[in-house]
Amino acid sequence: MYLKSLEISGFKSFAKKATLHFTSPITGIVGPNGSGKSNVAEAFSFVLGEQSIKSLRGKRGEDLIWNGGIKQSFELRANRASVKLIFDNSRRIFPTIDFEEVTLERIVHRDNTNEYLLNGSQVRLKDIAELLAGAHIGATGHHIISQGAADRILSASIRERREMIEDALGLKVYQWKKLESIRKLEKTEENMKQVESLRREIAPHLKFLKKQVEKIEKADLMRRELITLYQEYFAQEDGYIRSEKARLADELAGPHREMDELESALIRAKEVLVTSKGQDETSKEILDLEKQISAARDEKDTIMRELGRLEGEIAAGKRVIEKEIEKQKRDEFKTVYLKDVEEVIASLESFSAITDIKMMWNEVISTLRNFVARHRGNTQTSLIGEVEADGVRLGQEKMAREAAYTEVSEQEAKLIRQYQELKYSIEKEKDTNREAEKDVFRIIARQNEVRGIIASIQNQQGALVRVEEAFKRELTEAGIMAGRDAVHYSITSVLSDRHAQEERRHVIERIKIRLEDAGASGGHEVLKECRDTEERDVFLVRELADLELARKELLKLITELDQRLDHEFKSGIVKINSEFQKFFSLMFGGGKAELSVITESRRRKKSDAEDLGELLREGQGGEMAEAVDEQGPEGLEVTVSLPKKKVKSLMMLSGGERALTSIALLFAVSQVNPPPFIILDETDAALDEANSKKYGDMIENLSKHSQLILITHNRETMSRAGVLYGVTVGAEGASRLLSIAFEEAVQVAK
Ligand code: ATP
Repeated sequence: MYLKSLEISGFKSFAKKATLHFTSPITGIVGPNGSGKSNVAEAFSFVLGEQSIKSLRGKRGEDLIWNGGIKQSFELRANRASVKLIFDNSRRIFPTIDFEEVTLERIVHRDNTNEYLLNGSQVRLKDIAELLAGAHIGATGHHIISQGAADRILSASIRERREMIEDALGLKVYQWKKLESIRKLEKTEENMKQVESLRREIAPHLKFLKKQVEKIEKADLMRRELITLYQEYFAQEDGYIRSEKARLADELAGPHREMDELESALIRAKEVLVTSKGQDETSKEILDLEKQISAARDEKDTIMRELGRLEGEIAAGKRVIEKEIEKQKRDEFKTVYLKDVEEVIASLESFSAITDIKMMWNEVISTLRNFVARHRGNTQTSLIGEVEADGVRLGQEKMAREAAYTEVSEQEAKLIRQYQELKYSIEKEKDTNREAEKDVFRIIARQNEVRGIIASIQNQQGALVRVEEAFKRELTEAGIMAGRDAVHYSITSVLSDRHAQEERRHVIERIKIRLEDAGASGGHEVLKECRDTEERDVFLVRELADLELARKELLKLITELDQRLDHEFKSGIVKINSEFQKFFSLMFGGGKAELSVITESRRRKKSDAEDLGELLREGQGGEMAEAVDEQGPEGLEVTVSLPKKKVKSLMMLSGGERALTSIALLFAVSQVNPPPFIILDETDAALDEANSKKYGDMIENLSKHSQLILITHNRETMSRAGVLYGVTVGAEGASRLLSIAFEEAVQVAK
């Protein structure tokens, strides 16, 4: 049992609330014509979401609301019509709802607005439709066969028939799924287009940004290279400057020291020259000496002359004496008295006191001569004596002179010695002065040389200062151009190779130019923007990939659903045909009936597609209009062959035969895939007694799988119902509902 009860209130002829309890597999609804039986069947269609007011026999929604009955009294009109259908969900015919009971309610208001409630909560029509499709209660109403509609399955187009059969086979749920998938697919494709267009939109910007980033990265690479070079360069340069400074300071120390020494030497040398001014006095002294020597020489000359004179006088005396002696020779052998000789000896002996030999000699000679002279003639003897005396005097004089000469000579020699000494000392002093002068010149010359050396070193120092200034400038510039890292270096080993440093400098300059040319500015922002844009693009790509995956999955699902639909449909047709054949031959006592799949003509295809579109619009609020092409061009044809008759066309069947055929087909369909309930509104109207019996058997058989609500005037049918409701027309033309017994029912039905 799937149905529990139906509450009708304000719907059509049911002015007041009327409730039907479906406590039996077969519920019969009986009543006179126009009492409102069909309104009950329509109440089912209404609550299940029927959108066609026409099929509910109205023009507007308002027509479904109790309109006040015969008197048309405005006050008695209902403002709303509501129908509530309560299902027993203990067997979970609605698997998604975890309740024992499921209540569907639809309310229509006079302003034509509808409300749908599921277990008291407002839901959308779509939700109701999906829920019902899942429970095999379809929108085509294959289980609600309204009055005179049994024939619809025969009169429908092959396409419509297919629809009905598909619905009855429970394929609607797959179709829903398929339509849902197609809708999703479209949405996915739409999204893909949007994403692609977004990607296209950002592509040029991204390209631009990437180029910028490339530039920045290149610049960064150059900057890093520059940093390395700078560090090396600065380390070398700093080291060089330091070592050069030290070297030049060192180099300068020597010359400075030498300059100091030279200065002292110069002072000393000058002092020597100042001292040499005492030279003049020495010169005076020498002049004095020279004069004295000259005087000594003059004196010597005088003495010499006197000596010469004395010697001449002495020689003259000698000659006189010699002449006398010659004269006296002749007196040579004159005898002399011994006494006289002894007298001479005695006088000679007195000369022993004379110390001077020469004088003594002279005295001796003179004495002897005097002796001799006395013994010769008197005159001659006195002359010799006189001459000899003169001779002695002259000799003595001469001796004195000679002594004087010696003395003067000695004096002279002494003076000469003094002179020479003085002269030597002057010469010596002159030498010292010359040395001092030489020294001064030499010192000055050296000073000039050393000054030159100092100047050269200072020049180098000056050059080094400029190098240092350039180095400092470069440091600042490097900091600005390549960042702080560039100026963080450590001096390791300094190479003396300035050429390599120059080379490094050239390379640095070249990179600097290239870096400036690169003009990559605003690095951080561009990088960030690029990263963001890239991330966005990556996100879009991923999104696209996800969408593509979803698209593929949807396509796969659609294909699967198509295959499943095709398979289920075909196997369903086979099963239906088997049942159809059974029911048909049961009804007609033989013959043949068959549903066959046929392909529609092209034109039909189009119109059918339009029909389907409409159908979809009804179910989906018009969203699925384009999905029709997917539905395939196949339809269902019914072919029958009555026993003992040549009739094959449906058109040629009698009304009764048509009714039997359609019932056979409807029952066959319901048998293959039983819906939870079936409502048959006077489907049995055209049956004769014999067929009514067969019909009765068939519905009993059918009620094993589906709950049946039968609106009928047929006694046979009534007899098969477990519960019977009678519908009568009460006051104001409103329908009244009452549970009745079979006998009553027979009465009521009349
Ligand atoms: P039959 O056995 O002849 O088929 P029935 O019992 O099926 O008759 P229905 O067709 O269900 O009768 O009922 C039709 C009756 O419902 C009509 O009398 C009609 O006036 C009444 N009816 C339909 N709509 C309304 C409405 N909005 N307000 C009041 N009565 C209505």
